[in-house]
This record gives sequence, C-alpha cells and structure tokens, in this order.
Amino acid sequence: MTYTQSPWSLSDLFPAQDSPEMKAVFDELDNKVVEFEAVRLSLSPEMPVAAFLKAIDLLEAISRLASRIADFAYLSFSADTQDQVIQAFQSDVESRMAVIANRTLFFSLWWKGLEEEAAERLMAASGDYRYWLEEMRHFKPHTLTEPEEKIINIKDTTGSMAVVNLYNTLTNRFLFHLEVDGEIKELTRGELMVFVRSYDPALRAAAYQELYRVYSQDGAILGQMYQTLVRDWHNENLDMRHFANPLAVRNLANDIPDDVVNTLLGVCQDNLSVFQRFFQLKAHWLGMERLRRYDIYAPVVKTEKKYEFGQATDMVFDAFQLFEPRIANLARRVLDQNHLDSEVRRGKISGAFCAAVAPDVTPWVLVNYQGKPDDVATLAHELGHAVHSQLAAEHSLFTFHSSLPLAETASTFGEMMLVDRLLATESDASVRQTLLFRQVDDAYATVMRQAQFALFERQAHDMVQQGATVDELSGAYLDNLRHQFGDAVEVGDEFRWEWVSIPHIYHTPFYVYAYTFGQLLVLSLYQQFKAEGEAFKPRYLSLLSAGGSKSPEKILSDAGVNMHNASFWQGGFDVIRGLIEQLETIPVVK
Ligand SMILES: [Zn+2]
Repeated sequence: MTYTQSPWSLSDLFPAQDSPEMKAVFDELDNKVVEFEAVRLSLSPEMPVAAFLKAIDLLEAISRLASRIADFAYLSFSADTQDQVIQAFQSDVESRMAVIANRTLFFSLWWKGLEEEAAERLMAASGDYRYWLEEMRHFKPHTLTEPEEKIINIKDTTGSMAVVNLYNTLTNRFLFHLEVDGEIKELTRGELMVFVRSYDPALRAAAYQELYRVYSQDGAILGQMYQTLVRDWHNENLDMRHFANPLAVRNLANDIPDDVVNTLLGVCQDNLSVFQRFFQLKAHWLGMERLRRYDIYAPVVKTEKKYEFGQATDMVFDAFQLFEPRIANLARRVLDQNHLDSEVRRGKISGAFCAAVAPDVTPWVLVNYQGKPDDVATLAHELGHAVHSQLAAEHSLFTFHSSLPLAETASTFGEMMLVDRLLATESDASVRQTLLFRQVDDAYATVMRQAQFALFERQAHDMVQQGATVDELSGAYLDNLRHQFGDAVEVGDEFRWEWVSIPHIYHTPFYVYAYTFGQLLVLSLYQQFKAEGEAFKPRYLSLLSAGGSKSPEKILSDAGVNMHNASFWQGGFDVIRGLIEQLETIPVVK
C-alpha cells in the first residue's frame, strides 16, 4: 500500500472537545478521584496487600483518564495552534489537572514516609508497579517534614520559579535584526537561527553576532538570575536535603549512579579530538583555512533531492523490516490507524514529536514532511519512538514510558537503520553526503555540546558558591569553548555570552547530560549490532520492551551493557570516528 499525507484522526481518543464522550470521561474521572480520596483513611503500614494494590490500580486508572484528556487537548492544539476554542479548552484542562494532582498527592507523601519493612512487604507483592514505587522512595532520605516541604513549594512559586519565569519573559521578548538580501529583517530567535545554517558564510557570522549582541546587552542581569538560581539550588539541595554535590540531585532523579555520569563526562573529555578532526574536515569542504565557530552547522553539500511521501514511508518500513519485521509492523500501525499528521499547514506546530498517550493506545506522531532527506530521517526517528512505546505496551501507565536517559534509544536507532539503508541503496552522492554530515552534526550537538554544558554547569556551581562575578563566569565559559575546539575552530569573543542563552541550565540544572548519555548509548548499541548481527536483536528488543519498568542500570545490564565501564561509552565515539573516516574518503564536491 502507498501512503499519502493527511492530518491525523484523534477519534480513538474523543470525537471532539465538546462531545458527550468528553463530558462522560470528565465525570468518570471526578468519581474516581472521590473514590481515591476515600482511600486516605485506609492507608497504614499494616494495610492488606489487596487493598494497597486496589488503591494503585485506581490511581493508575485516574492517570489514564487524565492522560487521554490532556493529550487530546495538546494534540488538538498542535494540529492548530491558532484555534481559540482549543486554546481555551487546553487552559481549562491544565487547571483541572492541577487540581486532580493536588487531590491525589497524599498518596505519594504517605508512601515516601513509610518505614522500610512495611514498604518492602507491599512492594514485594506489587508486580509491574514495583520499580515505580521503589523510585519514589529514593527521595526519602532527602525529603523534609511536611510543613517544610509545603513552605518550599509555596516559596518556590515566588522564588526560583519566578526567576525562571522572568528569565523566559525577558528572553522571549528579544528581537534580532539581520540584513538579508539587502533588507533589514526583524526576527525572533528561532527565525534568526535558521541563518546559522545558511550557505552564505557572512550571513552565518552576522546571525551569531546579532544573537550575542542582544544577549550581552542584558548579560549582567541574566547572569545575576543564574547566580540566584545556583545559590537556591545549593541552599535547598546541599544544605537542607543533604545531597553530596549539585549534580547528584539530577542523577538521583534520572536514577543514574554518580560514578556513571563522571565516567561518561570523562570519556567525552578524552574524545575532544574526534570532533576537532570533523571540524577540520568541514573547513576543507567549505574551502576555509580554519573553521569559525559560526560555521559549525554550515551545510557542506547542496542537494536538490526530494522524496515523495509514499517513497519515504517505503524506505523507512524497508529499513525497519530488514532489522526486524515486528518493528516495521508496529511503525505501520501508526499510519494504518491514521495516527500520523505529516502535512505542512498554517497554524500547525513546527518540528516533530511522538505522543504515547497510554499503553493500550497506538501513539500519535507529528512531523512536517517536505520531502528533504532530513525529513525522511525525522520520520524514521519519530516512528522509532512509536515502536518503543508499543513494545512496552504490556506495562502499566506508570511503567511503560522509558526513563529520560533511555528515551531516545529506539528513535535514534531507527534513524541509523534508515541512514544505513540509504547509504547502501541511494545512488545520488549528494544525498549520501548530506546524510553522513547530518549524522555527525547531530552527534556533535547532542553528545559533545551537551557534555560541555554539563561540565560548565559543574564548574559554574562551584564558582558561584565561591562568589564569582558574572564576568568571571563568562570568562570560564569562553575558556571551556576554546579548550573544547582546540586549534580546529576559531571562537569569537562574543561567544562568552552563550551560556546566558541556554534555557536548560536555568530551568533544569544538569538536564543536558541525558542527551549525551542517550546518544552515546545508541551509537554504542549500534556498534554491538554491527559486530554481532542476529544475536544482538533479542537483547535489543527486550531492552525496548522493558519501557520504564526497571532502573536504567538494570535494563542495560540485562542487555549486556555495563554503564560503569568507560569502554562502553568509548564505543559510541568509535562509531562517530568511523563516520568521519567515511567522510574523509569522499572527494570534496564543489
Ligand atoms: Zn526523539
């Protein structure tokens, strides 16, 4: 069958936001929440296992209904962001969901406070819920008394959360001016960043210079906001909650041991030369003596190649089929059930995502397909996500979503299957080159760039604690960049302000290393697949099928991966080096 582009159908969730079905689910949700509130009285360390499991089942059922409604609202909004009725519906859903979260909060507080022996008795009988229950309790040693927790919650809304909101408000207002084809354009950051991928070297430089000109104007205040957030992080998490260091807070949330993260970041430091070599190659392709920081994402090959949508789906399914027919079938199901929105339309959200609403519903996938080789890769990526959650469908709503460090496994792996297939079958050299460069560009942006942000964050948290000024932080950031790029890339002085333009380090400290973790993991797994062939596949499929039902460490060790081992992470860099070596053998196209 040949697939064609169409909007998706959300009818497997609801016919419409004002349908009787929607009202019925809201009513059912409310009844179940009332029923759950009554559970509060029966919670005790001695409670019978059956009653405990019944309570969790009820909470899970509540979460399923809530997900259906919230995801329907978000998916409707994504399909048409300009529809005011949907906008109003979405805000209404958000506030009703916050109320439900508060009404059911008592359970997790009780659970975390429970004595070890009682918790162990209940967990032992909880089957698939076990890891979800266990994970909540990891925070027990760092949890304060109920009145203290309440004070922190309340003060955070006007404290650290308010600082993050101010940061967002201030920076989202920024406008940038760039001369394009003799005309001065007023642009948002998103619009400006398109030009760092321009074919014109002067335009790439001008775009970055304008970006940091604007950020530097408010650099002192943005830096002060960062210092405030870092002090708050230290006061709360180290002084009051007794975490050993600033990074350990995030590691516990990810359930990744501290030594693993240190090993991972150390291996990145040992492999700076891998990307330096790539940037030297890129300079060569661009006809430059030495690459400038402005040229990191410069396109090197002009390709006009376009793929019809039906061709693209065939290529993705062929690539998946070749690896494992089951994977191709699960990907096809998304299209067969009309859960893919691939069109480009006015008002539709940009970019791409996959929404896994619940284990018993086929996920929805959104892309903006325009026929470029990149678009085919994105399709493979998002369908890979959809395959991952369907493989984990036997788990509960609480345990089928994979944890953050493992979330990009099937998607990136799917993309690599497609690229391999295209490299083997595509006769157009410009397409093959575009895909290879894209792979290494992405690997840089996801692996090394994010690792360096995490290393800078670690340094910055120390420096702020010792009273460093904003200028000293900027100096440390510039030193980090110059060390990272070595002689391979010339870094302009304005890049000292880059750190104040990275929202992640403000709103979710140390989040970024999960990207490094995920991408290197997949590269390394891919290398194992290349080495072992068929023998690798069952291990890989069971890794995906585990979803989020076990700790990342357990899931990976079951798949034969020791994440404490530096050589495992080095395997990921070896794949990147292999890609670069492949590129080095190709004659430069002018
Ligand atoms: Zn993804």
